[in-house]
Amino acid sequence: MSRRTLLFTFVMLHVITIPVFVLCDALILFIGEDCGLCRVAVDLSCHMFLCGVSWVCSLLVAGGVRQILGNPVKPTLSGGQDVSFRCTLKREVLMSVVCGGVLDIDHFLASRKFSYFAATHLTTRPFGHAVGFPLLCGLLVFLVFRNLRGSLLVASSLMVHLLRDGIRRGLWFWPFGSTPRLSLYVFIAALFVGSILNGCFLAQMGHEDVSMGIYDTFRVQIV
Ligand SMILES: [Zn+2]
Repeated sequence: MSRRTLLFTFVMLHVITIPVFVLCDALILFIGEDCGLCRVAVDLSCHMFLCGVSWVCSLLVAGGVRQILGNPVKPTLSGGQDVSFRCTLKREVLMSVVCGGVLDIDHFLASRKFSYFAATHLTTRPFGHAVGFPLLCGLLVFLVFRNLRGSLLVASSLMVHLLRDGIRRGLWFWPFGSTPRLSLYVFIAALFVGSILNGCFLAQMGHEDVSMGIYDTFRVQIV
């Protein structure tokens, strides 16, 4: 993929997030309290989509940085760098999508009931929605699996979830309190900057470790 195509795809993916975000929020408002399950489904889909897009953008930046540095992805036994890139992309995007969706389980854990009403009417925010939680999870992944790439993936995907929630309720810095609600522009800018930073880190890491550690542990076999 040429550098120009990488840049175009990167920008377009960020542009696409705006209508998707607005549409999902409008749909959630339209559904109202009539169908809790429908609201959860739309909300989770939006979270998962944004986390997946964010990681794809990180991979695109990593590819661009590697090209600039003259350090392209090394060919692998599975058939060359293009195949290797696609395998990486599918596995990692799946992981980021899952991370974006599972975080809201803490609503149910905090309410101690499997009830949509109880989960969405908590008096305090659930523990997983503190900004330190993604960092803690990233650290745990690194300590358990010794996989820096997986650690970055988990931490950044969970953080994208918190950023989107931040538009409604601000970012929660336990135990200090919450920031004001984030604007859509701040959210998009944070996604943009986050993908660039992730991509720069990824470009410095080995590409081969994606088939080891965390991925094999969970037997993610979609390629
Ligand atoms: Zn949430």
